[in-house]
Amino acid sequence: MTMPEQKTPEPLPAELRALAADAETLAQRTADLAARLKVADDGNLNRLARPMDKATEELGDYTEEVSRTAEYLARVRVSRDPNLCDVPWGVCPAHGITLRSNADRTWCTATGCGREWDYDRLHSPCAEPAAAVVTDEDGESGSLCVAHAQDAAQRLTGCTFVYLDRSTATG
Ligand SMILES: [Zn+2]
Ligand SMILES: [Zn+2]
Repeated sequence: MTMPEQKTPEPLPAELRALAADAETLAQRTADLAARLKVADDGNLNRLARPMDKATEELGDYTEEVSRTAEYLARVRVSRDPNLCDVPWGVCPAHGITLRSNADRTWCTATGCGREWDYDRLHSPCAEPAAAVVTDEDGESGSLCVAHAQDAAQRLTGCTFVYLDRSTATG
């Protein structure tokens, strides 16, 4: 008998959040030491506060990056739910492929929409409820939300759309 191959376990959002919390503690300790250097009665010590301030700032950036990654990881894991859309990028649920984004913000460009999200929704897997199963010419199928199904219907030819009757999908 052969042992099943050990797969490296996926990191969990909680592991990343714990890392960020550790870095926050370190940043606090670094800032405390910097403050003590600043009030010392020796100019040489006062000057040493500067690199410590810089280290504190860098730990802050680190915490931000790791926290953001934890959030994204959580979203990716949620989007694996088979009842959710399979598309690996986001839409405006009302207007479809109208989103613009930067690292921390996404907004819909459709006139009068005004929807905004405080993360890069455009580059996150879609987590809207699946509304249709789309099968392409090669027989590959996937679940799509209303907005992604409408977009696919406009752009793709040769696909079959089966809309799920959500009035009966009580789960
Ligand atoms: Zn919109
Ligand atoms: Zn979708």
